[in-house]
Amino acid sequence: MKRRNTATKQKVLQAFKKENRALSHEMLQASLDSIDRATIYRILNRFHEDGVVHKILGADGKQYFALCVDCEEDHHRHDHFHFQCSSCQKMECMEDEVSVSIPQGYQFQSFRGLIVGICSDCA
Ligand SMILES: [Zn+2]
Ligand SMILES: [Zn+2]
Ligand SMILES: [Zn+2]
Repeated sequence: MKRRNTATKQKVLQAFKKENRALSHEMLQASLDSIDRATIYRILNRFHEDGVVHKILGADGKQYFALCVDCEEDHHRHDHFHFQCSSCQKMECMEDEVSVSIPQGYQFQSFRGLIVGICSDCA
């Protein structure tokens, strides 16, 4: 049972690596049709807790998940924009780190920057 669970996790991880972009529950389920919906939810939540992925709220109101690349275990940096195609819903992490100054005395907690546009496949 435990081994099976690990194999399933690996499949989800592979899907992220193969697609190389952020994925929603539905996108994952479409590419991993052997895994049921509840299991995908559970694995994604676990990945998020473990700091393997970060969450992005899409323009479509759905949650997307992307692999953490430059994160350290206790220091996550997600201050980059995300690009979402309004035609195919494809979501990608943008490379540039965003630096914005906030008023003195304010504390930075998180950054949510979403660019909506048309990807090269849909243009
Ligand atoms: Zn991270
Ligand atoms: Zn597109
Ligand atoms: Zn990202």
